[in-house]
Amino acid sequence: MTPAAKLSRFFLPTLREAPSDADNVSAKLMFRSGMIRKVASGIYEWLPLGLRVLRKIERIIREEMDSIGGQEVSLPVVQPRALWDETSRWGVYGKELLRFKDRKDGEFCFAPTAEEVVTDLVRREIRSWRQLPLMLYQIGLKFRDEIRPRFGVMRSREFLMKDAYSFHAGEDDVTRYYGEVVGAYKKIFGRCGLNFRPVEAQSGAIGGSFSHEFMVLAETGEETIVSCADPQCGYAANIERAEASRPGDARTGPSSANDPNLKTPADIPTPGLHAVEEVAKLLGEQPRRFLKTQLYILHGKPVMALLRGDHQLNEAKLAAHLAAPEIRRANEDEYVKFLGCPVGFAGPQGHPDVPIHADYAALGVLNGITGANKNGFHARNINMWRDFNAAGQADLRMTTAGDPCPRCGRNLEWHKGIEVGHTFKLGIKYSQAMGATYLDKNQNPQPAVMGCYGIGVGRTVAAAIEQNHDAAGIRWPASIAPFHAVLIVLDLAADPRVREAAASLRSALLAAGVELLEDDREDSPGVKFKDADLIGIPLRIVLSKKSLDRGGAEIKLRSALQPEIVPLSECLPRSLALLGFSGKEAVAATTE
Ligand code: ATP
Ligand code: MG
Repeated sequence: MTPAAKLSRFFLPTLREAPSDADNVSAKLMFRSGMIRKVASGIYEWLPLGLRVLRKIERIIREEMDSIGGQEVSLPVVQPRALWDETSRWGVYGKELLRFKDRKDGEFCFAPTAEEVVTDLVRREIRSWRQLPLMLYQIGLKFRDEIRPRFGVMRSREFLMKDAYSFHAGEDDVTRYYGEVVGAYKKIFGRCGLNFRPVEAQSGAIGGSFSHEFMVLAETGEETIVSCADPQCGYAANIERAEASRPGDARTGPSSANDPNLKTPADIPTPGLHAVEEVAKLLGEQPRRFLKTQLYILHGKPVMALLRGDHQLNEAKLAAHLAAPEIRRANEDEYVKFLGCPVGFAGPQGHPDVPIHADYAALGVLNGITGANKNGFHARNINMWRDFNAAGQADLRMTTAGDPCPRCGRNLEWHKGIEVGHTFKLGIKYSQAMGATYLDKNQNPQPAVMGCYGIGVGRTVAAAIEQNHDAAGIRWPASIAPFHAVLIVLDLAADPRVREAAASLRSALLAAGVELLEDDREDSPGVKFKDADLIGIPLRIVLSKKSLDRGGAEIKLRSALQPEIVPLSECLPRSLALLGFSGKEAVAATTE
């Protein structure tokens, strides 16, 4: 049985004020509650209180990974360049990859992830389909030289990640297993006491998505999530990837160059008015009647994206549609060079050499208003087929308020979230490049089909705080709290009953598996209560002359407004009930 931790001896340097560079609530509270300290930009020390939370989350992760057949390994943080060359990622990965040389001039990097290393391990050891599936995971440090480390451990450079990799004989098996991992992730974040959503991180247009991000919902999150208001439907996606336009949206547009509804084009002077909204106001028209162009450059050549006037381009979708992550926005000079007009006056018509990629909704615009390709003019009645042609059609836009759910057509809700985990069906990208093959039932070599699954452990700690805090400090969910309860014993010298009551309550709680922090410092009760609130221990138990006079101990949940007096004989069951301990958990904790 672990004894109660004595706060007088516990390394808990709390602060009244957070350091000035702590730039969000969780970072401030983690500094103030003595969970972390900073060594350098994006590099942190975890102090005992913080580490206890980290370890709790790790434990939950391990249990759930083990329960779906995962096997824990420890892979090196220093990885040789040669492996990264095999997948060409040494060249592709940008400056986030921290590269260095050893004394023999050998090139290495600090692990930002471990696909290469684990695929190399598996190709050396796995021979036959009989050895698959195989799921290996680790909980280890990663380093990414983030351009802008921020929000404390939420976006740091060195961080603890659970990374898992699975290898399968065939596509069907990875598909089946992917579902199990998503299930395990739901259990992990649920057991951590977090309000979260798994969201599709890839367009699921071809039926089912095989990349999900796990988002902890918090106002302060960097990510925007759209989800169906109907829980029965369950659709949820990162706004960046949410399906917006569909082929059917083009139906309301011109049907051909001979469509009888097409009107004659006409120029309109719009001096100095670039934005759709400005021109729409001048003309008294709705932005949805406009065709909006955006010029991009791919390998030195122009490519035009075409959108409906009230829509925003989603660059990631354009890049995916063109299979060209390297596209970039054209500059002013390039507009003039390729389209003959400044930004804000370009239209799709009259550029036969510039391939146009249209969003489906843009193709639904009949007699559209757009730039006239000359400074100070727009044009009316521009139509596909007659005035321009599209080299490609796709969903290229961001979801906007008012769009229906792409699955069921009902309303969408918007939330802010923090990405704490990511699951991904990788396919054979790595196994093929690195020759990680197995012999199938017919003795033919096949590349193993892979999945990879990450969780930011430190980021999960910070996300839990973003979601669970108040003005006084952190409010830990009991399952990941550094301690379950804080025991504050007052008036020891003044009343002999206190010591006796404290001794029996302490041992009863410990025997039941309650992790106890005892504030035995010389400070005033006020200081002790403040610190208990700041570090967010779920249950506060006070034993004093006053409490005994009133009939027992004073017990208060961190989230409750007032304490309750509980008779000594009732303290243990009441505490366990308040902590939400089932008998099973208490036993698990005591047999640790
Ligand atoms: P982000 O888009 O936030 O940079 P990512 O897509 O690069 O994340 P992955 O490569 O999928 O992240 O890594 C798996 C998990 O590791 C993420 O879901 C996140 O929880 C965590 N993580 C990634 N980068 C950081 C970081 N700089 N600091 C802390 N945790 C991180
Ligand atoms: Mg990243």
